Amino acid sequence: MNRRQAIMKACLLLRRQEKEESLAKFLLMYMFDETSQSFNSKLSEQLSLEVENKYFQLIEKHIEDDMPLSHLVGFEYFYDRKFKVTKDVLSPRMETEELVHKIIEYVKDKNLINIKILDLCTGSGIIGITLKKELEDYNVDVTASDISELALKVAQENAKNNYADIKFIQSDLFDNINNQFDIIVSNPPYISYVDKNTIKKNVLNYDPHLALFADEDGMYFYRKIIEGSNTYLKKNGFLFFEIGYNQREKIEDLGKKNNYMVEVYKDINGHDRMAMFEYK
Ligand code: GLN
Repeated sequence: MNRRQAIMKACLLLRRQEKEESLAKFLLMYMFDETSQSFNSKLSEQLSLEVENKYFQLIEKHIEDDMPLSHLVGFEYFYDRKFKVTKDVLSPRMETEELVHKIIEYVKDKNLINIKILDLCTGSGIIGITLKKELEDYNVDVTASDISELALKVAQENAKNNYADIKFIQSDLFDNINNQFDIIVSNPPYISYVDKNTIKKNVLNYDPHLALFADEDGMYFYRKIIEGSNTYLKKNGFLFFEIGYNQREKIEDLGKKNNYMVEVYKDINGHDRMAMFEYK
């Protein structure tokens, strides 16, 4: 069986179970760890029996358990780099690429050199690592922290594999941080426990709940970070957050209460998704 035939067969299996068919192609491409261009040029290549069996086993696993692609293969791409994913970290999301892009644009626009960036709740490390790599010419000093030791292990491995020189600190928010930063960024847990029953099974069963849910109607981490910024953010510094599609008003209120100007941006799907805070 060649690559094209395997994908077609998998599509059929997925379609029968009303699953998204695009997974068929991505899964095989991820298994070969090839760019889409190189993969597409080899669609008529034969699969070894071993690869074929593994591929259909994973397709079955997806059908039976709703296991997402990142967990089927153990990694995900973020900003064109490869990041290891385990059960201890949130799988990288496209929306978070947009947040990172905003920060990169911001640093480049203002031509900020030698700044210090803190990535709180770093999880797999995608935000801090990507900023360090994409802003190499700006000599940014990146610190990333997480409460979870197991997440930090994954993040450290990701930093090493991507040759990103970052400082990692195990810390419950600012508890073990003792520095001031020009930018503090976070994609913290932000889903309200009340919304738990609206979350899809493939998220609920695979992403760590520690990374998904937050008290105070999802606002706990934003409040703590904003309050902590009095101490840990430089006076002319900025805060960047990923937020939930329904948190615009609440994040704006929180900003106002703490004397910040807040700008909220939409993601590619038109949902409120990013917030930037600046001292008034
Ligand atoms: N910062 C990581 C990410 O953006 C983890 C976020 C989280 O665990 N809530 O994916």
